[in-house]
Amino acid sequence: MISGCTRVAGVIGDPVRHSLSPALHNAAYDALGLDWVYVTFEVPAGSTRAALQAARSLGLVGLSVTMPHKAAAADACDDVSADASRLHSVNTVTVADDGRLHGDSTDGEGFLRSLRAAGHDPNGCKVLLLGAGGAARAVALSLHRAAAHVQVAARRADAAAAVPDATPIAWDARHDAARAVDIVVNATPIGMDGDETVAVDVHRGLVVADLVYHPLDTPLLRAARAAHAPTVDGLGMLVHQAALQVERWSGRAAPVETMRAAAMRELHRRGSNAG
Ligand code: NAP
Repeated sequence: MISGCTRVAGVIGDPVRHSLSPALHNAAYDALGLDWVYVTFEVPAGSTRAALQAARSLGLVGLSVTMPHKAAAADACDDVSADASRLHSVNTVTVADDGRLHGDSTDGEGFLRSLRAAGHDPNGCKVLLLGAGGAARAVALSLHRAAAHVQVAARRADAAAAVPDATPIAWDARHDAARAVDIVVNATPIGMDGDETVAVDVHRGLVVADLVYHPLDTPLLRAARAAHAPTVDGLGMLVHQAALQVERWSGRAAPVETMRAAAMRELHRRGSNAG
């Protein structure tokens, strides 16, 4: 029930209407008994600063930030976390009581939590990261902090070299590299469309994580299961980065299982409606 006391949080992005974040956040607020509602704000590129100013003026709880605003949000906040500063990327804005805007990046920590929740501690592990975009950069930073040794393979050598705290290798070297690591992480969009796969050699015991969550069951994860390798799907990262936002904004532990169930229901609903 929305009343005069209900507070608003949301996500800015473009496109943003198909975001799963409303399902994740509203399920969490409901479970925590918070009189908050989470909505999407379609904000075009170039309007990031104006949107954050509005969040301050309107007294929003906070904002999630997605493409194309992550870099501009890092410039527009009053202060940013060390990770967000290093990545020059903000996915979480917290509006303080005095109106100050604090920017943070919860993607890397979200990935780590999803890995650990699936029973895999990366401490001391060798990790092969595929892709060198925004998600890969965030994941590399957090894996390094968790004492993992990260190699990154990307089709653009300059992009791989710019990933923080990781050793770049050639894209074509990923097959050999996969045989010598403990964990492989797909941080490219390969797998979102049909049967295209990122094609690495999967061996039994290799932990295979995919950041792609639509579809949830990617060709890479199917190949891993066929090789009896443990898998970590991309929904875990999505849920945990949102859970960290809920925690930042409310100061309370997020109901992670409730959030994942809500996201699964939403994905299922969309799948059912697709035909
Ligand atoms: P991004 O910044 O666009 O980076 C994509 C990376 O993948 C780039 O290195 C790109 O290389 C590479 N790539 C794209 N197509 C490729 C191909 N066909 N072959 C080889 N490399 C290819 O995207 P991002 O934000 O990092 O996101 C990457 C993926 O992670 C997306 O699928 C996204 O949906 C997913 N993601 C999931 C979560 C989650 O919570 N689960 C969070 C963030 C992102 P070039 O630079 O050469 O194009």
